[in-house]
Amino acid sequence: MITATKVKLYPNEKQKILLEKHFGSCRFVYNYFLAKRDEYYITHRDAEKSSLSYFDTVYMLVGLKKQYPWLYEVNAQSLQMSLRFLDNAFKNFFHKNADHPKFRKKGKNDYFVVPQHVKIKGNRIYFPKFSDGIYFKGSKKKLSEIKNINEIVITKDAGDYYCSIIYELSEKYPPKKQLSEENSVGIDLGIEKFATLSNGIAIENPRFMKKVEKRIEKLQKQLSRKQKGSNNRRKQILKLQKKYRKLRNMRKDFLDKVSTAIAKQYDTIIIEDLNVQGMMQNHHIAKSIGDVSFYAFKEKLKYKAEKYGKNVIEIGRFDPSSKICSRCGNIKHDLKLSDRIYHCNICGLTIDRDLNAAKNIRKMGLIKVGLVQSESTPVEIATSGLHGIYPYRQMSVYESGSSEASAEE
Ligand SMILES: [Zn+2]
Repeated sequence: MITATKVKLYPNEKQKILLEKHFGSCRFVYNYFLAKRDEYYITHRDAEKSSLSYFDTVYMLVGLKKQYPWLYEVNAQSLQMSLRFLDNAFKNFFHKNADHPKFRKKGKNDYFVVPQHVKIKGNRIYFPKFSDGIYFKGSKKKLSEIKNINEIVITKDAGDYYCSIIYELSEKYPPKKQLSEENSVGIDLGIEKFATLSNGIAIENPRFMKKVEKRIEKLQKQLSRKQKGSNNRRKQILKLQKKYRKLRNMRKDFLDKVSTAIAKQYDTIIIEDLNVQGMMQNHHIAKSIGDVSFYAFKEKLKYKAEKYGKNVIEIGRFDPSSKICSRCGNIKHDLKLSDRIYHCNICGLTIDRDLNAAKNIRKMGLIKVGLVQSESTPVEIATSGLHGIYPYRQMSVYESGSSEASAEE
C-alpha cells in the first residue's frame, strides 16, 4: 500500500532561491507545452497525427533547454514530470473527465515533483540539485527508515515550503472481519451536522473551525477593498493564505480523529458514494467545503478500515436516502432541504432528518451485500434502486397520492 507523509522544509537562503527556480521552471515548461500542444492541434486537426504525445514534448524539451539555458539549473526529471502532468491533464480532457488544461499561475499551487534519487538521513532530505539536503520538521515517524520512496512533491503554501513524501508501506494489515449486520453502522454526511450515525450518534462540526471560516470571510471582504498591486494587498493575501492553511490543518485533524474512531468502533460501515461530477459543478462555498471534507473523510475512512480489518460498503447516490421513511418505506417526494424533521404521513414516524437518512443508508448497504433480505429479487434491486427495497409500500403511497389528487378535482 502506498502512503504519504508531509513535512515542513526549512531551506537556507540559497536553497530557497533554487526551490523558486524549480517552481518557476516547471511552471514555464508546463505552460509552454500547453500552448504548443494546443497550437499543434489547431494546425493538424485533420492530419493523421493530430496531437503531440508525451514523448514528443520530452524530445522538444531538449531543444527548449538549448534555447533557455537556465532550465539546466533545475532537476531534469522534475521538468519531465511537468510534461507528464500536462499529458495526464490532456488525457482527462480528451476522455471528458476534465476541462481543458489551464495555464498555471505564479504563486498559485506552486509545486514540483522529484520522482527519483531521494534520500532521508536524520532530519535532512536529499534529492538532485540539493546535495546538502534540506532540513525538515514535522513527522513523528522515523522517516530515515523509509527505504522505498516513490516520489516527493515540494509545495509552497503561504510563504512556507513543504514536502510530501510518497512511499510504499510494508506493514501487514489484519484479515478483514466478516461482513455482518451486527455492529454495522450507516453514516449520513451533512453540512449542518458533519455526520449522523444510524444508531443516533451525531458528530457536529467543531466550533473552532466555524470561527476560522468566519475570519476567512472577513479577511476576504477586506481584501476586495485593497488596491491591486499594493503592499497592503500582498500582506493581506499572505494573512489569508495562513488562515486557509490553519483551516485545512484543523479539518484534517478533525477528519483523522472521526474516521479513526468510527473504523475502530464498527465492523461494517456503510456510506454513500460521492457524486464527484456534481461536486465540481457546485460553486456554493459552504457546500464545496463540505464536499472536499466528505471526499477526504471517505478516503481516510477506507484507509483506516483497511488498517483495522473492517469493511466499508458504498451505496449509490441515486438512492434517495433522505426521502424514504426508515420505518415503513414510504417515499416523501415533497421533503424540502429545510425540513429538519422527517414526519411520515403513513406510519406516523417522526424522526430527525439525518438520522432517518443514516438508517436508510445502513439498510441499503446491508441489502446490497445480501445481509438483509429485501422484499424482491436481487435483479429488481439492482435495476431499480430503492424500488426493489420497498416495493409494496411505495406502490401504496402512489395510490394514496393519486386518490388525494382526484379528490381535489
Ligand atoms: Zn413511515
